[in-house]
Amino acid sequence: MKFATKVIHAGIEPDSSSGAIMTPIFQTSTYVQDAPGVHKGFEYARTHNPTRHTLQNQLAVLENGNYGVCFASGLAATDAIAKLFSSGDHIISCNDLYGGTYRIFTKIFGKLGLDFSFVDMTNISNIEQAITNKTKLIWIETPTNPMLNIVDIAAVCALAKKNQILVCVDNTFASPFLQTPLDLGADIVVHSATKYLGGHSDVIHGAVVVKDKALADQLYFIQNACGAVPGPQDCFLILRGIKTLHIRVQRACENAEKIAAFLKAHPKIQTVNYPGFTEHPGHEIAKKQMKYFGAMISFSLKEDNIEAANKVLSSTQLFSLAESLGGVESLIGHPATMTHASIPFEERKKTGVVDSLIRLSIGIEDADDLIADLAQALQ
Ligand SMILES: *Cc1c(COP(=O)(O)O)cnc(C)c1O
Repeated sequence: MKFATKVIHAGIEPDSSSGAIMTPIFQTSTYVQDAPGVHKGFEYARTHNPTRHTLQNQLAVLENGNYGVCFASGLAATDAIAKLFSSGDHIISCNDLYGGTYRIFTKIFGKLGLDFSFVDMTNISNIEQAITNKTKLIWIETPTNPMLNIVDIAAVCALAKKNQILVCVDNTFASPFLQTPLDLGADIVVHSATKYLGGHSDVIHGAVVVKDKALADQLYFIQNACGAVPGPQDCFLILRGIKTLHIRVQRACENAEKIAAFLKAHPKIQTVNYPGFTEHPGHEIAKKQMKYFGAMISFSLKEDNIEAANKVLSSTQLFSLAESLGGVESLIGHPATMTHASIPFEERKKTGVVDSLIRLSIGIEDADDLIADLAQALQ
């Protein structure tokens, strides 16, 4: 089945009790049993919910995995993955990382005894050097946030396999329409479904997809034992969002390509980070592992200070100044003071998150209108 068919049909059956073509929102906490222990597969809604169940099945198919596990947010999904490990275990993560992931790793799991190394994964030898006999997981984000670096998923997975280390890929920025890490050898895919999967900036949600049954069983155990589950209404919204995922992401990527070209030619702009440029260091890898080059762009100004950035950030009319990404509407953000404020200044500078860096999440509006808006704001 091709992707466009999967998003409409895969894992989705009409409701057997009513024939409803759309998966109902099963707003219930418990289920009536015929006799003690005799039930229809549902006992209590932290453990199982039919709306969530359908979404989990669909996500598994979209990522070419076997098991989907849904959570109340992307970070709750990350939390569950980190709980697969024990005090003393070592995790290697990319250094150009979603700010909240850096925060939960260092401030929560660091305190609980997990050990982290943050390395530049655009050079595989940095990972090789960081591996110890305690290393249990390599955590990849690609494209990275907000520098849009590209990590070679297949190459990292090959290195990890040799050393019997698991690989997890945060696939939030690409979405399964552009990139399916399990096909490249990854063991775990994690999503902030809040972004492209939901796609309409109206829900917080997270998901994990794996192929391996034993790994899935551990994750379902953590999902139930720790209880960071999404509500059925939120699962419904993600199911609804997914139906147009391929159309939304494709249009957003096409818009991004035009906007990146406009920014590159602009005299006030210093650098534009966009993997679709042939001179981008990760361009060839992106071409190999992604269907399009994504709809995220970041750029810095020649006048590299917060005041200059603020002028642009407060002058756009179509681009809304807001955190998040992946919705139908275009957003503009300032990593240094918004998404990456929890990363120390020195750490931030090292990865290229300079004071004037501006991040765009391109939506599905008309590209000419978006370009005109940026042109007047840069003026
Ligand atoms: C937003 C985001 C997260 C966290 O997801 P929430 O749904 O906000 O908890 C994790 N990784 C990436 C890349 C993100 O953009």
